[in-house]
Amino acid sequence: MDKRTIAMTIAGFDPSGGAGVLNDVKTFESLGVYGTAVVTSLTAQNIHEVTGVLPVDVGFIEKQMDTVLQSEDIKYAKTGMLYSQEIVKAVASRVEEHELKLVVDPVMVAGSGGFLSKKGLAESIKKYLLPLSVLTTPNIHEAETLSGIKIENEGDAIEAALEIGKHCDVVVTGGHLKGSDIFYNGSIHVFEGELMESNNTHGSGCTYSSAVTAMLSKGCDIESSIKFAGNFVKESIKYGTRGTLNQMWKFDDP
Ligand code: PLP
Repeated sequence: MDKRTIAMTIAGFDPSGGAGVLNDVKTFESLGVYGTAVVTSLTAQNIHEVTGVLPVDVGFIEKQMDTVLQSEDIKYAKTGMLYSQEIVKAVASRVEEHELKLVVDPVMVAGSGGFLSKKGLAESIKKYLLPLSVLTTPNIHEAETLSGIKIENEGDAIEAALEIGKHCDVVVTGGHLKGSDIFYNGSIHVFEGELMESNNTHGSGCTYSSAVTAMLSKGCDIESSIKFAGNFVKESIKYGTRGTLNQMWKFDDP
């Protein structure tokens, strides 16, 4: 019997199950990819608020990565909540050491508004992580923080993508603007979408970045992985009831 494709998420733990590593593994599994999960921080939260964050010891995060990567053949990983500069640096060093292809979801704030990062996180993600990455998937707010550009329309989102794209390929996800995703990989591609009015978006950024990572690990190219993830997350928001309950829905490969 062949071993399944295995991917890794390096992210926070959301006990409500809507975001973080639980979401990521559910997304991987629903797309036929076995999910491994390195926990960077515990959080206490529900869909309305974050009431606490407890970062995991940096050495122990490295130990989790090294231990899993020593026994499993993993090519693609994604990061979510990394919380501090120290964690970013440690993860970057392990990514380099294990030659992982990395997708970075630059998580800073929860959908409910609670802080999931210490000051200076965006700077350290740009400095240490993006140069090692194949793709980053900021939403509008994250793209503003990473680029320093205020985004009010599609033109601004393109400017931000060009700025962030100096570090690695980028898709600025449009869920908070007109619904289009702006992809930059040396040239700009606009994937038209519709804006969805929903309260059911907790974890949608995690679902999106995990779906891209799953498709890449299954051998799809970056453009079709991005298009697939855009549709996948929209379906998840439409049919999920609490958070993006994507594991209930089965999708055909692109
Ligand atoms: N990672 C963790 C651990 C979280 O708790 C959250 C949000 O609550 C996120 C990431 C980001 O979630 P979203 O996908 O809604 O941006």
